Amino acid sequence: MSEDVVTMDKIVALCKRRGFIFASSEIYGGLGSTYDYGHYGVLLKTNVKNEWWRAMLQERDDIVALDSAILQHPDVWKASGHLAGFTDPMVDCRTCKARFRADHIAERQPGIVCPKKPSKVPGEGPDCDLTEARDFNLMFKTNVGPVESTSSVAYLRPETAQGIFINFKNVLQFARKKPPFGIAQVGKSFRNEITPGNFIFRTREFEQMEMEFFVPPAEAPQWYATWKQIRFDWYTRLGIRPAGLRLREHEADELSHYSSGTADVEYLFPIGWSELEGIANRGDFDLSAHAAESRTKLEYFDPGSGERYVPHVIEPAAGADRATLAFLVDAYDEEQVDGELRTVLKLHPRLAPVKVAVLPLVKKDGQPDIAKEIVASLRGLMQTEYDEGGAIGKRYRRQDEIGTPYCVTVDHETLTERTVTVRDRDSMAQERVAIDDLPALLAGRLAQPWSSPKLG
Ligand code: ATP
Repeated sequence: MSEDVVTMDKIVALCKRRGFIFASSEIYGGLGSTYDYGHYGVLLKTNVKNEWWRAMLQERDDIVALDSAILQHPDVWKASGHLAGFTDPMVDCRTCKARFRADHIAERQPGIVCPKKPSKVPGEGPDCDLTEARDFNLMFKTNVGPVESTSSVAYLRPETAQGIFINFKNVLQFARKKPPFGIAQVGKSFRNEITPGNFIFRTREFEQMEMEFFVPPAEAPQWYATWKQIRFDWYTRLGIRPAGLRLREHEADELSHYSSGTADVEYLFPIGWSELEGIANRGDFDLSAHAAESRTKLEYFDPGSGERYVPHVIEPAAGADRATLAFLVDAYDEEQVDGELRTVLKLHPRLAPVKVAVLPLVKKDGQPDIAKEIVASLRGLMQTEYDEGGAIGKRYRRQDEIGTPYCVTVDHETLTERTVTVRDRDSMAQERVAIDDLPALLAGRLAQPWSSPKLG
């Protein structure tokens, strides 16, 4: 992927220019590392989440959905270990006043640079003066109710997973499922990250897509292997080029005490190889911890064998914002066309915010009316946009930059022949098509398997 022209700065600039993602609270000077999604950003991230739901629910029949509350009983976080252990070791520099994660410095992670000596790793400059590493709890604390007392303390959830474990009994009762089965959830999580950054890669408020797969203990190793492969394939099926994706198994000293296996799906971001998603074999740790804390039985009784057991859990945990960033980075391309630079997002058509743009060549001669008629025939099937402003070349470039796979152009021939041109985003080839054939033709193309044209 060394030939890639993409940089994080180009992605940030494109996202701002085309209204995908803005710095939050901009008119008040911004709030560090928080972002607001604009129209195309919402459409893109929604498509990412929908593809995740599709893979979890529509394409399988052993997973059910859940949407648990962000605010939960504080004992949830006691049982899960987050209150005691959800900490990152942190160091402050007395000279530059910046704060860093000790493990990131040790790993010499890209992006962890001293603000005074950008070329140096913190601690390695002559003036650096780092404190000892201290633990820093990443959970945001708040109060429920009008009186701020210790009894009203609550936390914004730092992950969606615990909402799943505490609903295990409900789901088992009402979903008529038995192990192996999964519970999937998508939603906001909050972590008071010490060093957020790299655009939407690490923020304090983000969205997760997590699934807990409950299995008979003896089947855990096999399901762990299966889910690693399924999750890796999800990204490549949606167009991420395999050369930029890898599965990295954690070393024994990286594993949490309860995990017998964890692997990260990593993507080659412009900042280097970084985690996109973690897949973990969590054993019976979570259900047992909640059973002990809540004094509720969280187990499965198999009426067939008469066996009673606490299921083991395989957890694929992904980030919706991080995945969105990876899809943007992987799709970004620049080409020289007729002496001009064309910036184009070669997104998988299913992820593209807008599937088709309908463009009248000129704003007269009845062309806008026919174009609007075409929009009406397509919008029930796919996200469709109408654009009549400016030169046609400029309008094509605009659609290229937001990754629209097809542009339908209405011209003078349309009026007599009832045909239009369909322009392909990647090849820029145009073909003439009858208006009446458009809905079936475009819907058919969008349903086809796709691989990145950047693969050559
Ligand atoms: P990291 O090592 O990057 O801090 P993690 O291992 O703590 O991540 P998990 O707790 O496994 O992350 O969360 C699952 C997924 O949620 C991550 O793979 C990532 O995609 C996403 N995620 C976690 N923290 C953040 C964050 N601060 N901003 C954006 N996405 C995040």
